[in-house]
Amino acid sequence: MSYVKSLKAKECGAEYPIEPRTICDLDFSPVEVQYDYDAMKGKVTRQSIEAGPQSLWRYKDLLPIEGEPKTGFHSGWTPLVKADRLAKKLGVDELYIKDDSANYPSYSYKDRVVSVAVTKAIEFGFDTVGCASTGNLAHSVAAHAAIAGLDSFVMVPHDLEEGKIVATRSFGPQLVKIKGNYDDVNRLCAQIADKYGWAIVNVNLRPFYTEGAKTYGFEIAEQMGWQLPKHTVVPVAGGTILPKIWKAYQEFIQLGLVEDNKPAMYGAQADGCNPISKAVRAGEELFHPQKPDTIAKSIAIGNPADGYYVIQHIKESGGYATSASDPEIISAIRLLAETEGIFTEPAGGTTLACAIKLIEEGKIPRDEPICVCVTGNGLKTIEAMDGQFEHVEPIPAKIGDFDAMVNAMKEADEPAPAATNA
Ligand SMILES: *Cc1c(COP(=O)(O)O)cnc(C)c1O
Repeated sequence: MSYVKSLKAKECGAEYPIEPRTICDLDFSPVEVQYDYDAMKGKVTRQSIEAGPQSLWRYKDLLPIEGEPKTGFHSGWTPLVKADRLAKKLGVDELYIKDDSANYPSYSYKDRVVSVAVTKAIEFGFDTVGCASTGNLAHSVAAHAAIAGLDSFVMVPHDLEEGKIVATRSFGPQLVKIKGNYDDVNRLCAQIADKYGWAIVNVNLRPFYTEGAKTYGFEIAEQMGWQLPKHTVVPVAGGTILPKIWKAYQEFIQLGLVEDNKPAMYGAQADGCNPISKAVRAGEELFHPQKPDTIAKSIAIGNPADGYYVIQHIKESGGYATSASDPEIISAIRLLAETEGIFTEPAGGTTLACAIKLIEEGKIPRDEPICVCVTGNGLKTIEAMDGQFEHVEPIPAKIGDFDAMVNAMKEADEPAPAATNA
């Protein structure tokens, strides 16, 4: 039994049965899963959720599956880190990092959306799943397909980081490299879904896929002790996660599980791909697509499918947006690692760098709780750190050589003796 009612077009409101579908046939707006919230009242409670598994499936009642989960048994329920050392450095009172660099099995937020989409693909009777990906989605789809025993076809731009490609290929999917950027890959995948009858998780299973992203927001609220952070800073690529964290907060408010503190949502992008940040800062409702050029490849989507809704939710919530340069992204990766022991990829660096800029701009006040969404792991993108560290010359395994090295370090640290200036 589930609380799912139908699929509904976000603009014209036309309703459809639960079926593979991307958009409404009438007005081409995205379709979204509808639930019977009245029936949930008194049944979906803090207690019922707390009694669930330590995975994203503890929120199963708020997800669009009918039977038992088919994968993602260990996905989600990642750490919410109270980042006191980083907070002190930034001069803010209360700062949290929601850390999906620790997600399972593929170390990014994508394990959430894929857990739901692959379970749904099996419910619909598909035997092949696929995706259009900037890297992390391919990795996650390949892993979950292996867990569930499905075939997979993952389509990616040709120039992704090697760590993502190797990790993805280890699971045995059919990897297809496309000569083009993500938007070219996505366009092709829409045709593939129709022609081959496969479950392309972010195309014809998109309404189910996107619902999985709500679990990121549910976890933030539950892990803060059933409260919402006043300010949430979220990376924006295709525009799935920001509106879905917002929806998660609103669902918890509607069910009476948290108090409505009017949470504000903030978008984070790289300077080299910032259509949403540009539109928000210009006060525009529509964005202009871009050709991406940034080290933050996992969020390099120049024509975001749900960008319109990202702008809407940022505005409606009283939030804002900004973007960060590649050097700012790298500095933020190092700052997060040095203060909190979290090694994130450029997408996470982007989010922290943008949070810092929004705090400095005065858009996010220093005395209210802030949550920064870290969505991916740095071990997959080590080439982003090329040239960051000095060469380390090996020394012989002798204590004398170690002593000499320590002494040389000390000398290098000491201020130059006055005599040398004479
Ligand atoms: C996919 C992704 C995002 C956000 O993508 P949306 O399409 O906006 O949901 C953020 N960070 C990482 C690391 C990602 O892989």
